[in-house]
Amino acid sequence: MPESLDLVVTSVATQLMGATSATAKDVCQNVLADLVAYFGVDVSFLRRNDHTIRASVLVAEWPVRPGIPDPDPLAVVYFTDADPVFAMAEHQKEPVVFRPEPATDDYQRTINEGRQVAATSMACVPLLSGEVTSGVLGFVKFGDRNWTDAELNALKAIASLLAQVQARVDAEEQLRYLADHDDLTGLYNRRALLNHLDVRLADGQPGPVSALFFDLDRLKAINDYLGHTAGDWFIRVLAERLRRSADGPTVIARLGGDEFVVVPATPMDAEAAEALAVRLQAALRERVAIDGEMLTRTVSIGVALGMPGHDSTSDLLRRADQAVLTAKNSGGNQVAVFTDDMSLENEFRNDIELHLQTVVESGALLLHYLPEVDMRTGDIVAMEALVRWQHPTRGLLTPDSFIGVAESINMAGELGRWVLRTACAEFAAWRSRGHGKESVVRINVSPVQLVTEGFVESVKGAMADNGLPPGSVCLEITETVVVQDIETTRITLDGLKEAGVLVAIDDFGTGYSALSQLKSLPVDTLKIDRSFVRELGSDPGDLAIVRAIIALAEAFGLELVAEGVETRAAALTLLRHGCHRAQGFLLSRPIAAGPMESLLAKGRIDVDF
Ligand code: C2E
Ligand code: CA
Ligand code: CA
Repeated sequence: MPESLDLVVTSVATQLMGATSATAKDVCQNVLADLVAYFGVDVSFLRRNDHTIRASVLVAEWPVRPGIPDPDPLAVVYFTDADPVFAMAEHQKEPVVFRPEPATDDYQRTINEGRQVAATSMACVPLLSGEVTSGVLGFVKFGDRNWTDAELNALKAIASLLAQVQARVDAEEQLRYLADHDDLTGLYNRRALLNHLDVRLADGQPGPVSALFFDLDRLKAINDYLGHTAGDWFIRVLAERLRRSADGPTVIARLGGDEFVVVPATPMDAEAAEALAVRLQAALRERVAIDGEMLTRTVSIGVALGMPGHDSTSDLLRRADQAVLTAKNSGGNQVAVFTDDMSLENEFRNDIELHLQTVVESGALLLHYLPEVDMRTGDIVAMEALVRWQHPTRGLLTPDSFIGVAESINMAGELGRWVLRTACAEFAAWRSRGHGKESVVRINVSPVQLVTEGFVESVKGAMADNGLPPGSVCLEITETVVVQDIETTRITLDGLKEAGVLVAIDDFGTGYSALSQLKSLPVDTLKIDRSFVRELGSDPGDLAIVRAIIALAEAFGLELVAEGVETRAAALTLLRHGCHRAQGFLLSRPIAAGPMESLLAKGRIDVDF
């Protein structure tokens, strides 16, 4: 126990020096205990002022009251309905001493509620941070006590030390808040989310833990056209909606940009998580007013589950991320739940994307050909060029696995040009050797290619460079494209017709093209989609559709080709109803260029239906 006031102050300073936000409360309590002993009082307390809610909040007390009620009436005392003693602490600037006799009744009741105590004396010393009263250090003596000026000066010094500690702790907590929160929205940030998931996924915690990954569709347009302030405002509104709509305790984090993650506090299965996602999706879809305009943005949501003790935080977030990618890739405004297939699919996609960049230069592309046969005679009337990719590690890839990726990375044009030039060159080479002079090469064109500037010119060029005559090249376009942008398509198709290029509508029957449109377009051939052909001979519904298509082709004077003939039954049905041309595994598989030339040399395949 220090003997002089100076030593008391020094001792308090030493104790407070090492206090952090974690230890401050205990350190303060120890300090109060020392002060109670030194000054010979009965009670000491330290309270801080929360000016935002206008209240005095208990930080520490000594001795700790036995049997503190819950809730503790002294924990938070609002100034407006507080006793005068407390109320005074809101803006108090100088120490105040209360002594027993006449004026003591009020505060006596406050401190000793219900207890019968003799007259009490009290000293209240404000904690000051600049102009602001940040709290109060108080001493109570049951009975009378005189406080000397020297003592009060020492208390002022101690109060100032305590005020400093408090400021330091506040700053530390503010820093921690900032480190854990996103400053635009006040939601948790990535760091806090990772910490939270680490805790939730620890062995022995209840599971499954679900994560909902939100990605706004096309937020960029708002930033681009209305400016970043509008974009920020939009994000803030959505964050607030998420906060309001997520019932129950839920961790909501913004990962930056337009990405949010919601982690419900209670374990839930995939179905419950999906239902929650659908509900939140609807809440976010409501309109937002910005600069007098009403804007809406849809959102894609990926849902994934993690099992505590089994999955890591990064496992869970990676899955949620993949699910949201799937949701986005299938057009956005969707909820997708992670499945194991997705991770394979995604890995594959990344790998494809990586290698595809150089696929044209690397010489890894080649063409296979699918013969088209007149089923009455077996004559080879055409062949469809089908692109293949000799992938360095994955073997020979078919187009379904990479055309979509090529389109998404703007490589469809380059790839399409390669196919066009190569098919023309190979076909011309066969013809120069006298093979396939009566037949047609059919080349698939992706939708992007068709609307690319200079497309007609590039087709003309490829034919001219290889000396291919009009009527020997046919482009296959899908029905969906035709319907989507009929005017652009018409201009392109007119140009192609003029250049002597044939046009077929691929996968016919799947795209709902209007008959009137079809009639007005310069199209030569319809290819009946293989989904209608496969079950021909067993499915009467398919037969009805195929017969309708056949009638249509006849009415418009179009050539007709059935795709995907796999069975004798299908072939016979088609023949019986007047569709003679076909391709499919029953007739031939796709074959390499060499065998295709040999087949053309032979001119026909054997048919015996
Ligand atoms: P598609 O235009 O419908 O081409 C026919 C596809 O059906 C080929 O698949 C072919 O192998 C397959 N096939 C042929 N006969 C049968 C059969 O009897 N049964 C079944 N189940 N399938 C049969 P492939 O080569 O995998 O091509 C898939 C799709 O990729 C093509 O469908 C086409 O849309 C696209 N594609 C192919 N080559 C190119 C290209 O050079 N450029 C573009 N843009 N797309 C291409
Ligand atoms: Ca085709
Ligand atoms: Ca097709």
